[in-house]
Parts: sequence; structure tokens; C-alpha cells
Amino acid sequence: MGEITNSIIRRKVVIVGAGAVGSTHGYALAQSGLADEIAIIDNNEDLARGQVLDLVHGQPFFPTVSIKVGDKKDYANANVIVITAGTAQKPGETRLQLLQKNADIIKKIIADIIDQNSNAVVLIVSNPVDILTYVAIKHSGWEKGRIIGSGTVLDSARFRYILSAHCRVDVHNVHAYMLGEHGDSEFAAWSMTNIAGMPMGEYCPACMNCSNWDLERKKIEQEVRDSAYHIIGYKGATYFAVGLAIVRIIGAILRGQRSVMTVSTLLEGEFGLKDVCLSVPSIVSHKGVRKIIESNLSEEELGSLSGSAEILKSAIRELNL
Ligand code: NAD
Repeated sequence: MGEITNSIIRRKVVIVGAGAVGSTHGYALAQSGLADEIAIIDNNEDLARGQVLDLVHGQPFFPTVSIKVGDKKDYANANVIVITAGTAQKPGETRLQLLQKNADIIKKIIADIIDQNSNAVVLIVSNPVDILTYVAIKHSGWEKGRIIGSGTVLDSARFRYILSAHCRVDVHNVHAYMLGEHGDSEFAAWSMTNIAGMPMGEYCPACMNCSNWDLERKKIEQEVRDSAYHIIGYKGATYFAVGLAIVRIIGAILRGQRSVMTVSTLLEGEFGLKDVCLSVPSIVSHKGVRKIIESNLSEEELGSLSGSAEILKSAIRELNL
């Protein structure tokens, strides 16, 4: 007979950066019931304190979870560390200066995590997410799958929503992925897109909701790409959907779900590309990215993927790693 053990596994998530994205994510994570413990860290200690107080007052309304202001020591026994820390562009500052500043923030946080001998999976959300994921992987020297970028998980959700609204089908029945850079060079992988198991080329003639699908699909793809600009134009920042996308990724890690997600990960020859982080379909589980799925992309899509890789590599070349 197998021995019954009484060990209780506590799932701990540390959120670094208590700004709009970090705090919204903390709110969504608390409601998800996925974590037993959430520690929130920010350079601005008052902000972290305020966010934690506001969250704990919601305790009676969501599943039991301990929420506290954290510090570096919390990295030691964390299961997942989510990095949303970043700094905004200052007047007169160049894009490269801003990139270097954010890269230096990530390097310091990774050094602190290493100091604490942490075994956590690290999820980078701060932008530019693909470049910062690359910086973190290179700086850590860890097995590459243990550091993940949230990549185009959010963009793929936007794509699914916009396509579902266009086709008038439940979003949960739309399978669609945005790949490449989380940014202007990302592209819709139409060859992988399907509704009810039907590729769009088969589904469209059966649906007949629109008269010019070629034009419509270009519009849909552009709307996905422009989403962040629109939201930032209206209210200054995006945080609700990304907060939920992070919960989804963390869920796959904590539950060992082996979920297919378009997270940003280091390529080492997959799709003919290497030494760059970008989003391709990957299996995410306990230890982070376990496998990259080399889907059968069309020639045009492969061209777009290497276009994204070139843009990211040239930005990395400008950095002091
Ligand atoms: P924000 O300015 O509201 O919050 C950033 C927080 O980071 C601030 O509270 C700041 O004090 C803190 N911080 C800075 N340096 C720190 C450090 N070394 N240690 C701890 N905390 C530190 O910004 P936001 O709107 O929350 O966005 C955060 C990041 O997420 C940005 O880089 C943004 O571009 C990115 N973002 C990513 C996605 C995505 O899909 N990947 C989506 C939206 C936003």
C-alpha cells in the first residue's frame, strides 16, 4: 500500500512592479484561487503598501490567499516570479537609453533572484518583452525554458476576440495565434487559425458573413497590431487583459498544464532562427517552456517571423548586455 503523506504544497507568486500591470494582475490572480501566497515588490514602497492594503480588504470576497508586501527574500521559495517593473520614457530620452535602463532593471532583479538560490520560473512582462527576456536568459545562465516572456499571449487573445466578433462565433471556439515580436512586426498565423476545426479558407465560404475576406483579414490583423496604441490613446496604459493573460500563463506553470501558448522564448534553430527570443507556439508547464512546436507555417509567415527576428536582433546588438 502506498504511504499517505501529509505534505501541503503552498503555491507562491512574487510580483515585481506594483504599477498598473502588476497590481491589476495581483487582483486577477487573487480571484483565480491559483496562489496561496502573493508577495508584491516595488521600488516605490508606499505604492506596494497601498496596493497590498487595497487588495487584502477584498479577502472576504475571494479564495483564501495571503497577500503581503515582499522583498528579495521572497524570491527564495517562490514558484513563479512575475516581472512587471519598468520605467517610462523621460522627455529627451532616446529609445535606446530607455531600453538600456529597463535592461539594467531586469539584470538587477535577476541577480537578486540568483542571490536567493531561487528555483522559481521567471515570467517577464515588462517591455520590450522579447528583448528583456533575452537579456534575462543571457544574464542568468539558467536552462532557457525557465525564463519566459509573456510575448504575444495577450495579442493572440486580442486576435481571437476580434475574429470571434467578426465571425459571430464564441471566442472559445476560435483558435488563433499572433506570432513574432510583441510589437509592430507581429503577424497573424492564418495557416494555424481555425474555427470548429475548419481552417479559415474552408470556414469562410461556409459562413458567408462578409463579402471580401481577403480585405477583412488584413483589417483584422491590423486592428490586433494597433490595439495597444488605441487603448493607450484612450486611457494611457493597458492592464486588464494583460493582467488576465499573466494569470493564464501562471496557471499553466503552477498546475503543470502543458498548455500551448505563444510565449516569448529563446530559439535555438527552430524555424531556422537562433539567438533571439520571440513568440512561437510553445508548451508551458511546471518548469516553464518545455517544448517549442514547429508548426507548418506558410512561406509568407516564415518570412514575417524572420523579419521580427531581425528587428529584435538589431535592437539587442545596440545594448550593453
Ligand atoms: P507602471 O509605471 O504603472 O509600473 C511600473 C512599476 O515598476 C512602477 O511602480 C515602478 O516603481 C516599478 N519599478 C521600477 N523599477 C523597479 C525595480 N527595479 N524594482 C521594483 N519595481 C520597480 O507601468 P505599467 O503600466 O504597470 O507597465 C509595466 C510594464 O509592463 C511596462 O514595461 C509596460 O510596457 C509593460 N506591459 C507589457 C505588456 C505585455 O503584453 N507584455 C502589456 C502591458 C504593459
